[in-house]
Amino acid sequence: MELRARDSERQRSSSLRLDSRKAGPAGPSLELLTAVEFVDSELQMLGNAQHYDSQTGLPNFESFRKLLGILLQDGADDGEVAVIWIDLLNLRREFSLHGWTGAESLVRRVANALRSSADDKTLLCRFSGRCFVVAMQAGKLARRDRRRIQAIVEALKNAHPSFQQAEPQIAAGVAFYPADTRSAEDLVRFASLAATRASYLKSHAAIPFHSSMNSLIMQDHQVEVEMEYGLERSQFTTVYQPKIGLLDGSILGVEALTRWNHPAWGPVTPGEFIPVAERCGFIHRIFESTMRNALRDARMWCKQGYLLPIVTVNVSANSLRRRDFAGTVRRMLREWQIEPTRLEFEITESVMFDDEELFASRVRQLKQIGVRVAIDDFGTRYTGFNQLRQLPLDVMKIDRCFVHGIGRCRDTLSLCHTIVAMARRLGMRTVAEGIEEPEELEALRRIECEAGQGYLFQRPVPAAELETFLREWPGRMAGFGFEMAGEAKETHGLARSV
Ligand code: C2E
Ligand code: MG
Ligand code: MG
Repeated sequence: MELRARDSERQRSSSLRLDSRKAGPAGPSLELLTAVEFVDSELQMLGNAQHYDSQTGLPNFESFRKLLGILLQDGADDGEVAVIWIDLLNLRREFSLHGWTGAESLVRRVANALRSSADDKTLLCRFSGRCFVVAMQAGKLARRDRRRIQAIVEALKNAHPSFQQAEPQIAAGVAFYPADTRSAEDLVRFASLAATRASYLKSHAAIPFHSSMNSLIMQDHQVEVEMEYGLERSQFTTVYQPKIGLLDGSILGVEALTRWNHPAWGPVTPGEFIPVAERCGFIHRIFESTMRNALRDARMWCKQGYLLPIVTVNVSANSLRRRDFAGTVRRMLREWQIEPTRLEFEITESVMFDDEELFASRVRQLKQIGVRVAIDDFGTRYTGFNQLRQLPLDVMKIDRCFVHGIGRCRDTLSLCHTIVAMARRLGMRTVAEGIEEPEELEALRRIECEAGQGYLFQRPVPAAELETFLREWPGRMAGFGFEMAGEAKETHGLARSV
């Protein structure tokens, strides 16, 4: 079976004629010939537009669909076909940075790279804006064929400078006929699902389709679609949880946490939507929106006379990986006129663990700006002392799982004691997460943990409710064993009574 989908550099006037004819006895049963003819008449140019993608000169989706249909129909008995879906993840970004010219150049270069790497039996197609599809004869189990498929994806890496980044900018998935399906439509759909999985996994290689992807991705996809819609319609809001100085009851700051109130699903917890947002790339939009809200509210509290020294925002690896991360932070601080030393980022220990170099370089950049950096959920991974020693971190947050029951378990208490002592030697302050019981507070005080947050003091609440907390805190402090009176109250929580 021979499949040819030749396109032309002279795409301006090329046209595509679909033809099929039988090959000789030793050859394939069908030769699908896409003959390119050059014609000048306006009429034929119109015909051309129907078959080819005008930017790349590759067959468009309509043509591809027909060609693939014929290919599978005629080759059903003796052939195996691989369909590869290629998604240019950074096309939108190229457009944002360099306009049409940049986006067009990216697309053209990819098309050219595909042409160079594919042989004339391979069908190429520009499926839609950022997606290309390739169909070629290949067996699912044949190693040689799998290598050919990877070679096509590999070849794309040199097509454009933006593809040289550590994080893959191309996602590729592959589905096989007839092993995965006999339907042409499903074949393309399965390859696209596999590509979506590849983008979630940040895989540089083409991921083969697996039947489990259908349900998993459809689920993620639904959340993804709803998330995009929700971000545009302000369904995401920010709540705040105060951080309290455990030795004197002072309010040291607030942690900003994101909430999603879906109109039909109700509140969706961060545990549910953050992992999907990380996989599908929305997490940076969530970060920007939370940071904007936090800085705006910090500005407002400052104007109203509340003394809230520090606002903390959680940052995920995806945001940190962005080259312009430090620039974005600088710009937002300027926009909201917030002193850098009043902003703190919480980065989970797992990020530090997974990508040491990235973590170190970003921490240094942030410290240069003057922003504080905390290591979140400390104790959940095995961060080395040496690694910690080399970084200018400000705060170590002891994970909730250690705080829970610290008042009743000697081992947990001595472990937390060690963490506090270690942090102090490294010049870091410790903040205990998830304090729920008075005994936990008492135990943390005994080991001289400097600060804490938890439902015991206050659950995360919207800005207006936080103001109520700030106003009432001086009156409530004594109930937690904090002794403070008179003027001292004014420097803790409230600069002036409202
Ligand atoms: P985290 O940064 O460690 O935040 C603390 C989590 O503990 C919050 O959960 C908070 O509501 C919860 N918490 C606070 N006090 C207590 C307590 O006394 N008991 C218990 N059981 N829980 C307490 P939340 O808001 O559900 O957030 C969960 C995680 O989701 C956060 O953990 C953080 O890693 C992530 N997250 C939340 N918002 C964002 C965001 O805007 N960006 C990113 N990247 N991650 C976020
Ligand atoms: Mg946090
Ligand atoms: Mg935490």
